[in-house]
Amino acid sequence: MKKYNGKSVLKGIAVGRIYWYRKQNYEVVKTQISDCEDEKKRFEGAVETAKVQLSELYEDALKNVGEDHAMIFDVHKMMLEDDDYLDAVKSVINEGCNAEYAVSVAMEQFAGMFAAMDDEYMKARAADIRDISQRVINILADISEDGIQTKWPVIVVAEDLTPSETVKMDKNKILAFVTVKGSSNSHTAILARSMNLPSLVNTQIELSEEMNGKIAVVDGFNGQFIIEPDEDVLDDMIARKNQWVADLEALAQLKGKENITSDGRKINVYANIGKVSDVEAVIEEDAGGIGLFRSEFLYLGRNDFPSEEEQFKSYKSVLEKMEGKKVIIRTLDIGADKKVDYFNLEPEENPAMGYRAIRICLDRPEIFITQLRAIYRASAYGTAAIMFPMIVSVDEIRRIKEIVSQVKKDLELEGYSMGEVELGIMVETPAAAVISDELAKEVDFFSIGTNDLTQYTLAVDRQNQKLESTCDTHHPAILRLIEMTVKNAHKEGIWAGICGELAADTDLTRTFLDMGVDELSVSASNILKVRKAVRDI
Ligand code: PEP
Ligand code: MG
Repeated sequence: MKKYNGKSVLKGIAVGRIYWYRKQNYEVVKTQISDCEDEKKRFEGAVETAKVQLSELYEDALKNVGEDHAMIFDVHKMMLEDDDYLDAVKSVINEGCNAEYAVSVAMEQFAGMFAAMDDEYMKARAADIRDISQRVINILADISEDGIQTKWPVIVVAEDLTPSETVKMDKNKILAFVTVKGSSNSHTAILARSMNLPSLVNTQIELSEEMNGKIAVVDGFNGQFIIEPDEDVLDDMIARKNQWVADLEALAQLKGKENITSDGRKINVYANIGKVSDVEAVIEEDAGGIGLFRSEFLYLGRNDFPSEEEQFKSYKSVLEKMEGKKVIIRTLDIGADKKVDYFNLEPEENPAMGYRAIRICLDRPEIFITQLRAIYRASAYGTAAIMFPMIVSVDEIRRIKEIVSQVKKDLELEGYSMGEVELGIMVETPAAAVISDELAKEVDFFSIGTNDLTQYTLAVDRQNQKLESTCDTHHPAILRLIEMTVKNAHKEGIWAGICGELAADTDLTRTFLDMGVDELSVSASNILKVRKAVRDI
């Protein structure tokens, strides 16, 4: 039995087998092979497997998002039947090279050829070539699509996980995450919370093939990871796990009840989501609405921008499922830890303070307009609100409002019906909090993003695990900025909520109520806990 300490991101207990997740961007290495014919057969086998995967993806997409979007998988399948591409790979294998390397050479050759074409449509095919080639390489190197090759749910152990990797994983295959790196406010930790998985970050383990498949326990209450627990420990953990499940069942009694203090103060308890599929947990946990839909997750883990139609379907689906309850969609907050290759963002010294979020949207309005059109079209199917991330000035809001009004005019002319949409901003920079009196005159609501507000106010990188233990999330500077923002909102007659992770900190629920906070938006797993905290006041 071996015990390790980690930083818990969600209280809970998981017992299961370890799955060591290794990075998907596996580095292709050139090796010399002795039998070219055998290697070509290995390549052909991988191509056949890729085609089977693509047919399955086509069928899934056809059911879930319709034929238009499913078509891409058919196109990919056809590309894998292209003789020029297949011959290019085989000719490199004939030189005595391994198949993985041969595919990577053909990928560069064909992607380069497409990228150099004048026609925008053909240019975009470079991404498809990379996609099909990567699929074949992954099959050859035995790396599965979502990185998890298992028939039963496992404890995923990794050096680190990016939001793009986490978002692609099949939740049904995961019992818990344990990572060596990472901080509890990173987006990966936030995703783990939204998946309701007891997880640890910053865990001092040495990863090795040896641990793969061993029985382990993740104790999210005490921040412990125990490999091969002895019988007594295992019995104790199973008993505590049962108690945890019983406590959750007791909390479930609060479903359908109001978020109201004993002296009658009501507050909205909403949920944060990143994916359309997260809505199930939101409904299950009985949230009053969605206070933060991190729309950038729709852009992660793919090779090209989601189209207007694709985004429209996602937003419409969330709005319809919420049956009239408010859904606040945050526009694209890409950049910093949320990296997407096809945006072609240049490396930066300080990405958290760099070219990201609304800065990209105002600089590349075509991306912004596509998203706004999709949201406004979807607004006819429920109660949508929009908020903008990383705001620092009144000027930004005025520019945003001009774009929004043009988008609405265009859609009206095109005959689309739209619902009433509240427009708000995230208050997550000290600048926004300090000028919140002026900003409040421009918008319908504020949503305070304490994750970034803490990072920028205390100059503590939220990704840096070394700073986590010394970072005081209850620092008076943060609390004063929150209070000031709420007061300034109310002076102008608008509402203010909190959607950062601090909203779920029940040690502060009374403080937030005293400040007059109108809404707390938390991960689905924390909704009933916060409801209880409100009702206990
Ligand atoms: C925040 O900064 O508090 C927030 C809610 O946004 P994100 O965590 O996605 O940066
Ligand atoms: Mg933020």
